[in-house]
Amino acid sequence: MTVALDTLAHRVSGTVVRPEDADYEDARHVYNGMIDAHPAAVVRCASTDDVVATVRYAAESGSPLAVRGGGHSVPGFGTADGAIVADLSGLQSVEVEDGARTARAGGGTTWHRLNDVTAAHGLAVPGGIISSTGIGGLTLGGGIGYLSRGYGLTCDNLIAAEVVTADGSVLTVDEQEHPDLFWGLRGGGGNFGVVTRFTYRCHPVADVLGGPMFFELADAPAVLAYFREFIATAPREYGGFPGFQIAPPLPFVPEDRVGDPLIMVVSCWTGSVAEGERVLEGFRQVARPVAEHVGVMPLQALNSAFDALLPPGLQHYWKAAFVEELTDEAIAAHVEHGARVPCVNSTMHLYPINGAVHDVAPGATAFGHREANFATVIAGMWPDPADNEANTRWVKDYYAAIAPHSQPGGYVNFASADDQSRVADNYGSNYSRLLEVKRHYDPGNLFRLNQNIAP
Ligand SMILES: Cc1cc2nc3c(=O)[nH]c(=O)nc-3n(C[C@H](O)[C@H](O)[C@H](O)COP(=O)(O)OP(=O)(O)OC[C@H]3O[C@@H](n4cnc5c(N)ncnc54)[C@H](O)[C@@H]3O)c2cc1C
Repeated sequence: MTVALDTLAHRVSGTVVRPEDADYEDARHVYNGMIDAHPAAVVRCASTDDVVATVRYAAESGSPLAVRGGGHSVPGFGTADGAIVADLSGLQSVEVEDGARTARAGGGTTWHRLNDVTAAHGLAVPGGIISSTGIGGLTLGGGIGYLSRGYGLTCDNLIAAEVVTADGSVLTVDEQEHPDLFWGLRGGGGNFGVVTRFTYRCHPVADVLGGPMFFELADAPAVLAYFREFIATAPREYGGFPGFQIAPPLPFVPEDRVGDPLIMVVSCWTGSVAEGERVLEGFRQVARPVAEHVGVMPLQALNSAFDALLPPGLQHYWKAAFVEELTDEAIAAHVEHGARVPCVNSTMHLYPINGAVHDVAPGATAFGHREANFATVIAGMWPDPADNEANTRWVKDYYAAIAPHSQPGGYVNFASADDQSRVADNYGSNYSRLLEVKRHYDPGNLFRLNQNIAP
């Protein structure tokens, strides 16, 4: 292995970090502090050619291959014991074409960088709600966030990709070239190859009106019931979500309320400020906010508003569910378990995915749950490994309570390592076609460190 790794090191223009190297400790870690894997080597790829060399090396040597974009995967798919890691964090170039309203971004780009560059052109690609997440994993699993109701999932805005496949070929894929692979990339969760470049459709987005409002737990049933009615017909300029959250120690939270579990609504309004103020006022009519921090800001500011609550290295255990109808029984389960949120970093978010997400036909991309109106994530996140048992218990109990009121599947990007048995449900109505695409492009399952579609 050592001699062969020397050969790989000579073949790539990036660096190969091995266990004996000083920066190995840094290189082996991913965002979820619970993951403690020791890969054989981390290849810091500097080009598409480096990715090709790494993929070929893994295939020829029979080593497990981990592909790491932003490293945010909760199951830690960006690393593994004994694996060769293709670390794409060196592929961060972003170019915007104003006229065509498109953005091209390297496969290891984070949302922070993509948002900053597109915003300088008055444009945005629909992404997630945290800026440190990678565009790679998020796009390939679907991509849910503030602009989903307005402009669709992230994958709905993918118009082309450069992909290194299992045999080391470099393919440019879009609706015309390799349309089956292009279909699979849009929701198939990284099962088919390494995307070295994403090309997206962008949308004009000026400053947004947004931020969180916190309400008393006693108001949670009314707030959730109002959100259910409101979101069914809300203008597409609205992209926000309710959740449960312990009040953080921030200047806008009254000191005597810091540490209290509350229900929140985080809003993002992309239309005129005056109309947005009217729309958001609806929430204040349901209940009096305990605290709020709503204002006009750049989308990037809202996209990074929660980053400080979620530094790298926290312990993560998550569960996911799709929901067609948010019933009164489901609301009661949320209120019971959301009230017990055990830690300021942990949360439950209920993302609406109607609006533009439903404009796309269920079979048009690999994202398999267009019938759903909400994507639920119960995100357990806490600093101290000594608290693992209590926190994972909260997530599991919460999930068990909402599961009878949810679809069998959950969003692949919110699933945990122990969700592999749910993989067919998680990929939903498109699973059998995904299997065909997998058998064609990766019959040996080289790309298996993901929510895996086993060929
Ligand atoms: C704090 C936090 C907030 C989040 N918020 C949101 C959100 O708002 N909306 C949402 O939809 N999701 C969200 N997610 C989930 C997120 O989409 C997934 O964790 C996603 O997989 C992260 O992508 P990544 O590139 O950072 O992760 P990685 O761990 O690097 O990769 C995740 C998976 O994708 C594969 N992959 C990554 N890049 C590539 C590539 N270029 N080519 C091929 N395969 C690749 C990896 O092999 C791995 O299987 C969040 C996650 C966290 C931890």
